[in-house]
Amino acid sequence: MTEFLIIGAGIAGLTLGRELSATFGADSVVLLEKSKGLGGRLATRRGESTRFDHGTPEIPPHTLALLGISSGDFLFEGATSLAKHLSLGLRVEKNQRVSRLTRDSSRWILTTDEGKTHETRNLILTAPLPQALELLQGNAIRFPESLLSLHYEMAVVALLQGSGIHEEASLVRFQDSELLTLANEQRKGISAAPAWTVTFSPAWSKTHFELSEDSLLNLARETLQRRWPDFSGSIEIKKWRYSRPESSVPSSFEKITEAPALYLAGDAFSIQEDSPGIERSIRSALALSRWLQNG
Ligand SMILES: Cc1cc2nc3c(=O)[nH]c(=O)nc-3n(C[C@H](O)[C@H](O)[C@H](O)COP(=O)(O)OP(=O)(O)OC[C@H]3O[C@@H](n4cnc5c(N)ncnc54)[C@H](O)[C@@H]3O)c2cc1C
Repeated sequence: MTEFLIIGAGIAGLTLGRELSATFGADSVVLLEKSKGLGGRLATRRGESTRFDHGTPEIPPHTLALLGISSGDFLFEGATSLAKHLSLGLRVEKNQRVSRLTRDSSRWILTTDEGKTHETRNLILTAPLPQALELLQGNAIRFPESLLSLHYEMAVVALLQGSGIHEEASLVRFQDSELLTLANEQRKGISAAPAWTVTFSPAWSKTHFELSEDSLLNLARETLQRRWPDFSGSIEIKKWRYSRPESSVPSSFEKITEAPALYLAGDAFSIQEDSPGIERSIRSALALSRWLQNG
């Protein structure tokens, strides 16, 4: 049986795993991640000569400082390289989607889609809150109803390769109804060839999220072409149903059950309403690790 089992190897899960492992030893912590890669919404798409951060577009130095590291501590090749750095020495099992949760008097028993089981005394869920609650509901685990009122923005993201976009800054934030950010991945230093990542606004993304793949690509192309008529090249679309929380639960994490314990943590939780997503996830994970260390 594992002492601490963390569902999700995004920035929250990895931060928590790292802290708990430093205090209780690497053998006491396991992370289960449903994807084949690490990082969750720290996501980097690699092409032959291009790289795109198609989740969060930047990780500022003060965010790294919360983790006690700086960009010089590891080779920064996009957002996922931070996840890889944080995972060093941790036991992370990838391609493990947890779908079933049961408990007895002393432990949680988790079952993955593949039928593998894991046991733990302390279970921590770091998925975006609506996904975490879905897992609880699907397993008849009760939680405060107020948590259901927290919603996330949707994000449609376009990965552009080619030429003809002449914005100077490495990251442009827009204040309009169609676009949220444009990141110049070459200027950021992660892409050898010219590459840009455009995140559409939450309103635009929500309106068009369910369009067919082809229709969404055509509409995105028209919208981008209006903004940058000189652009010529290829466009690939990525979608996030849960990108950033619209508000926050006013606590650092949520304890759902006593021993065996179940906690929720991640970017839904914040005592500082205006802090950005990654920072919230890190602060939530650090607060929960302190709580667990104080036993
Ligand atoms: C397009 C976009 C733009 C953004 N822009 C910004 C920004 O400008 N500034 C900012 O601060 N933040 C931004 N964010 C938000 C930021 O990326 C997130 O707040 C942060 O990365 C969340 O980390 P997390 O670990 O809490 O959650 P996640 O990264 O979502 O990690 C949760 C992990 O749990 C896994 N998981 C879920 N369910 C299961 C299951 N049943 N079994 C196993 N594993 C499971 C998921 O695969 C995922 O890897 C942006 C996000 C997106 C998508």
